[in-house]
Amino acid sequence: MTGPESSRSSEGSKPHIVVFPFPAQGHLLPLLDLTHQLCLRGVNVSVVVTPGNLTYLSPLLAAHPTSITSVVFPFPPHPSLPSGVENVKDVGNSGNLPIMASLRQLRGPIVLWFRSHPNPPVALISDFFLGWTHDLCDQIGIPRFAFFSISAFLVSVIQFCCENIDQIKSTDPIHLLDLPRSPIFKEEHLPSVVRRCLQAPSPDLETIKDFSMNCLSYGTVFNSSQCLENEYLEYVKQRMGHDRFFVIGPLCSIGSGLKSQSGSIDPNLLSWLDGSPDGSVLYVCFGSQKALTKEQCDALALGLEKSMTRFVWVVKKDPIPDGFEDRVSGRGIVIRGWVPQLMVLRHVAVGGFLSHCGWNSVLEGITSGAVILGWPMEADQFVNAKLLVEHLGASVRVCEGAETVPDPDELGRLIAETMGESRSQVAARAEEIRRKTGAMTEANGSSIANLQRLVEEFGRLS
Ligand code: UDP
Repeated sequence: MTGPESSRSSEGSKPHIVVFPFPAQGHLLPLLDLTHQLCLRGVNVSVVVTPGNLTYLSPLLAAHPTSITSVVFPFPPHPSLPSGVENVKDVGNSGNLPIMASLRQLRGPIVLWFRSHPNPPVALISDFFLGWTHDLCDQIGIPRFAFFSISAFLVSVIQFCCENIDQIKSTDPIHLLDLPRSPIFKEEHLPSVVRRCLQAPSPDLETIKDFSMNCLSYGTVFNSSQCLENEYLEYVKQRMGHDRFFVIGPLCSIGSGLKSQSGSIDPNLLSWLDGSPDGSVLYVCFGSQKALTKEQCDALALGLEKSMTRFVWVVKKDPIPDGFEDRVSGRGIVIRGWVPQLMVLRHVAVGGFLSHCGWNSVLEGITSGAVILGWPMEADQFVNAKLLVEHLGASVRVCEGAETVPDPDELGRLIAETMGESRSQVAARAEEIRRKTGAMTEANGSSIANLQRLVEEFGRLS
């Protein structure tokens, strides 16, 4: 493997840290948002990246030309990844494990880069999918901070299940009695890492070991908010056993977040939204990895038609039924590809969000005040949906399951009801949560205080 190509050089006296994101949009974007906030507070950052993901750093490099350095390593090939694929977004969920395996091979090159650096970083912040960087940090003698772009509720569930595997193996549904609120889950709704633990022998011990390394990290950073899940944040903090625990989110609502600067809404969509009544539009998007089957698309399209609600539906490779766009013309818009989601959600016309409940989408929906209509499908989404619907009372569950085909009549009814006149109770709760969460990221809010504490920690380490 050839050495890294570095662009720009870091300034002298500020603390210098290295950031290593995992290349899936739900992981990468919030960690880049955090990097932006650290640079604004006087930290120099080297970002480890592979060439195919360099483009996502452009807004950061433009905003912080002297304090960000990209450290580019060639992407280590993997037999099950098509050549050129370096981001989960390009292959979907199945890309997570091979990309994790590929990136493990960067350990040697990173050690060489670190040892030859004239002003080496004093700490590493890396994604929780890169648990192996704990050992890397031991080797080079700097502390690791694990960055969680997931909820503390999810981390609590994973930790609890992995530590009590025999107990949970024998029951379904699974009652997590010792966790706050004693939540109950069907086995199929547990996080995938736990379900892999339940299989014997587990096909993926490396991944499980990787996850448990996060608990050993020197520091822990959560893109979450105390007013959303304080009891689970406290639970995880107790398990970590120290105060280097930083709850700094939702990053998407801090000041002028980087993402909101790095895209623009398509002019046709924007003028259509501008012409829609306030709160009337349902935004439909299932994150960066999921594509629906033909049957699911047919049912969702019919449900949207029957709901008589205005909507924007963002699709990736999903097969949209023939003639659908003509039938809903004027009332609904289908967008193929990528939209700047946060900007769309913040538009005053958007009042609802039909979402798979990925954690970033949850935070973006909550901070925009949109009522989330949840359709959790896989991974962490069932846990997030439980938090939203049952714990916070700020959302409605409209379907669940990766393979489930919703009943169009029922879906249409739920959409119409939630978006219509009778949306009062859930909408009022969503608005209350928006206000409370927003207060945490204002100048005197606890998330900003934690961000400052994190920066001070880096100052001390240097
Ligand atoms: N996203 C976006 N435009 C799209 C689809 C997704 O900006 O068309 C962003 C979305 O705003 C969020 C991230 O991609 O920040 C998806 O993360 P999430 O955790 O919601 O879901 P995942 O993609 O990890 O399943």
